Amino acid sequence: VAVPLPKPDWIRVRLSQAENFHTVKRVLREAKLHTVCEEASCPNIGECFGKGTATFMVLGALCTRRCPFCDVAHGRPQPPDPLEPQHLADTVARLGLNYVVVTSVDRDDLRDGGAAHFAECIGAIRRQSPATRVEVLTPDFRGRATLALDILAASPPDVMNHNLETVPRLYRQARPGADYGHSLRLLQSFKQRCPYVPTKSGLMLGLGETDEEVLEVMHDLRLHGVDMLTVGQYLQPRPGNLSVQRYVAPEQFDRLAAQARAMGFAHAVCGPLVRSSYHADRQAHAAGI
Ligand code: SF4
Ligand code: SF4
Repeated sequence: VAVPLPKPDWIRVRLSQAENFHTVKRVLREAKLHTVCEEASCPNIGECFGKGTATFMVLGALCTRRCPFCDVAHGRPQPPDPLEPQHLADTVARLGLNYVVVTSVDRDDLRDGGAAHFAECIGAIRRQSPATRVEVLTPDFRGRATLALDILAASPPDVMNHNLETVPRLYRQARPGADYGHSLRLLQSFKQRCPYVPTKSGLMLGLGETDEEVLEVMHDLRLHGVDMLTVGQYLQPRPGNLSVQRYVAPEQFDRLAAQARAMGFAHAVCGPLVRSSYHADRQAHAAGI
């Protein structure tokens, strides 16, 4: 059994006693909604809940795929809950959120990959909270991308986010079931349908990639018209998940952010605790929406 790398000082969980933190938790429990913040034990939960922002996970908690870096449970999911979009919209309104990220597990069992459910969530939030901006962080809709993108383009979010997660060489190991070229084309095809909606993607470092490979992925993203980037440190959620191959120093993340801006990303957030939705509101603001 490999001995895990010791965590450096810059990896630490920020806890918050902010009043909002407890309010958000209570309201989520009452609405029976899942957040990535809680399910993935995100290290930023104190800060984000304290500010009243959250990433909601719709379409259930069971994923049809099994990526070894991810601790979402694998299994046969339930059909989409038709009441979920309204429950989500009610909760967003009740918490007075002004920026919401909506994401889901992978739903290879659904004909549209869950796109219609995403569109209903966007529509329900817009009807009840017209000023709230909605970012979607979608699965790759592999095998059903045309239908899924047509549905999303008819009810577009304010930001379209799909994470590449890692470099192409590590896909077979880290993202079985996904395809690097497909994910890039998904982002590009959405941009072609909705040129005015910023696109966004993210990477985790520490799975065995090299710095050169990361730069190549960033170039590929720009070639496919992607506007915004997040890069964070991979943390092993459980002992059974892929182990951490390296901890990237904060200075190296700063260099990456500078390189991303030089490549033309409208906004790039890179840091050890950066997650796809970290400071999503500020990222969107910086990208001009
Ligand atoms: Fe939730 Fe994203 Fe904030 Fe983590 S970074 S707590 S997942 S909103
Ligand atoms: Fe986790 Fe997404 Fe992979 Fe499902 S598809 S196991 S939610 S990373």
